[in-house]
Amino acid sequence: MPYDNLLLATGASAIVPDLPGFDLPGVMPLKMLEHGRKIKHFIQNQNVKKTVIIGMGYIALEMCEALHSRNIAVEMIKPRPTFLPWMNEKLAAMVKKEVEAHGITLHLGREVKQIEKSKEGFRIICPDLELEAQMVLVAMGVTPNSQLAEEAGLELGPNKAIAVDRGLLTSGLDIYAAGDCADAFHVVTGQRTWIPLALRAGWAVADNVTGTKTTLEGVAGTAVFKVLGLEVSRTGLSMAEAEEHGFDPIEVMIESRTRAHRHPGSSTIGVQMVADRKSGRLIGAQMVGKEGAAHRINAGAVALSTEMTVETFSQMDLSYAPPFGPTWDPLLTAANQLSKAM
Ligand SMILES: Cc1cc2nc3c(=O)[nH]c(=O)nc-3n(C[C@H](O)[C@H](O)[C@H](O)COP(=O)(O)OP(=O)(O)OC[C@H]3O[C@@H](n4cnc5c(N)ncnc54)[C@H](O)[C@@H]3O)c2cc1C
Repeated sequence: MPYDNLLLATGASAIVPDLPGFDLPGVMPLKMLEHGRKIKHFIQNQNVKKTVIIGMGYIALEMCEALHSRNIAVEMIKPRPTFLPWMNEKLAAMVKKEVEAHGITLHLGREVKQIEKSKEGFRIICPDLELEAQMVLVAMGVTPNSQLAEEAGLELGPNKAIAVDRGLLTSGLDIYAAGDCADAFHVVTGQRTWIPLALRAGWAVADNVTGTKTTLEGVAGTAVFKVLGLEVSRTGLSMAEAEEHGFDPIEVMIESRTRAHRHPGSSTIGVQMVADRKSGRLIGAQMVGKEGAAHRINAGAVALSTEMTVETFSQMDLSYAPPFGPTWDPLLTAANQLSKAM
């Protein structure tokens, strides 16, 4: 078909390794709605009592909650030894404790080499561990669908995502790309990054092709998920990412309360903040709590996008009422501590 403008919005695909047994019916990824339907159907028809999830990222953890709520036993397994490696250690420990408290077994540092049929359903085989389950979920991440762009000679960026400028144009004439197949600029580093989350870039393409010049300044890597009784959130850079990008980072991790201290239902909320000593800028934040962690992170995301210093952020007039937080919002407490430490 001839075109004036072309938009590549081919998304991403689930990574499924080319290892024995990963193609068996009942060993499934979750990327598309169709996968979700298949999983539901399999659970209902095969009387699934136990599932092994390969991977411990956010989709794996969300699925662990979904299966647990259907009274299906869950074991999770991953090759790297660290649980949520991008997270501050103490915050990651809060999430791990919550998952394990619900009877979910985590096998860290174990690499699945093979899956085979067994009497129980499936045998999941690692060099030094074997697990049995009636269903296996493969949640090992995604990869951008950029083959078409690559074959057309378009420039690719990080993780082989299609490289686009701030107007979502690729290196090809009148060819745009948006969504999981495309990269973006990070508001903290200013460099290209690939973050396969709903980034709302499509509307900017629509503006550009219909004559309204629009640019997207970039993404902060803001992400939230819920696992069992906890909200988990992040924006910007972790300590390791900040170091990798040449910042002089410093972090604090504080524990505050989700509501005013004596208010019924008040619980612990952990907040981590990262700043760059050289510029004084706030460059990252993470949070874990029973409530108030998901939406609170958005204040941090705004601060990153506007290049706020920690000192300026610590003076923001954030809201207070006893059912929603202490007088000093947990974000302000973290910013004050960080400001003193710098
Ligand atoms: C289980 C799950 C939970 C998620 N939760 C969140 C969340 O809470 N928050 C968040 O921000 N993001 C979340 N995401 C990520 C979010 O869903 C994606 O970032 C978003 O859907 C990407 O949209 P897209 O349009 O780029 O790609 P997609 O929605 O994947 O669409 C791509 C389309 O292109 C088609 N296609 C591919 N190749 C070709 C081709 N060669 N020719 C024609 N068509 C082609 C595909 O069939 C597909 O229909 C989640 C993802 C998953 C899997």
